[in-house]
Amino acid sequence: MKIVTTAAGMQRLARGWQGQGMKVGFVPTMGYLHAGHISLVERARRLVGRAGVVVVSIYVNPTQFAPHEDLAKYPRDFKRDSALCRAAGVDVIFAPPDPEMYPGRATGDYSTYVVEETLAQGMEGAARPTHFRGVTTVVAKLFHLVLPTVAVFGAKDWQQAAVVQRMVRDLNFPLRLVVAPTHREADGLAMSSRNKYLSAEERPQATILWRAMQRAKAAVREAENGAVAAAALKQELAALIATQPAARLDYVEFFDPATLRPVAEVRRGAQLALAVFVGRTRLIDNGRV
Ligand code: AMP
Repeated sequence: MKIVTTAAGMQRLARGWQGQGMKVGFVPTMGYLHAGHISLVERARRLVGRAGVVVVSIYVNPTQFAPHEDLAKYPRDFKRDSALCRAAGVDVIFAPPDPEMYPGRATGDYSTYVVEETLAQGMEGAARPTHFRGVTTVVAKLFHLVLPTVAVFGAKDWQQAAVVQRMVRDLNFPLRLVVAPTHREADGLAMSSRNKYLSAEERPQATILWRAMQRAKAAVREAENGAVAAAALKQELAALIATQPAARLDYVEFFDPATLRPVAEVRRGAQLALAVFVGRTRLIDNGRV
């Protein structure tokens, strides 16, 4: 397994693979890897085969964090991450320092961003106004450096995958994007690097996102005509979440998975997104109703 830390070095390697017609599977991450990330690596391996190359990027992207967010304390453990990648059969880790990804940014001299203007508006985009601009920018840059045939993203960050998929279509990136299912703990909590922030009292309460998703599914299943008013169901889920003393709902939304527009009536096939603070930790989860 190779570790590459420069943009030029990564692109040189990728152009070599491209010249040889090799398939390249790519999993972008912010590190502090868990079994969810590894499931994406395994998916990438299956997609490119043994003759292909699997690249994992580990980069805590500063432009997707707002000034008040957790950039400085975002968990990092490169040694552990590289051991996990090696064990999972990763060929290359791309782990650039900030100046490699954003030349000139430290002195206010970086000025090009990629913006998706529609799907990035609601939910995470409304709660974190500069977040998706940072995501699309860094992912576009990573795609230019790694030149993947296929990139694997997690359904855990469902809106992110939709925004990136739209960018790939709109800007003609020559790659296929695959969205892999959310990996969960035994009690339903979606695996996340941020789960590390949860205290012993908060951790059991964090399952409220999963329980809320199950409640929404049950409500639609039990509805006589297969539809439930979104406003009423949102209220019910908000009340359920409020039963946990450490939990504070940021948003709950039911939306059409194709357009990401909110729906007034929730039916089977609608998509649900949740953001909940548990203590000071902001958790998100998503699922199909
Ligand atoms: P992150 O390191 O949190 O930025 O995530 C990197 C990639 O892993 C993104 O595509 C995430 O959607 C995906 N991911 C994060 N958590 C999970 C999970 N529990 N199951 C599957 N994919 C995940």
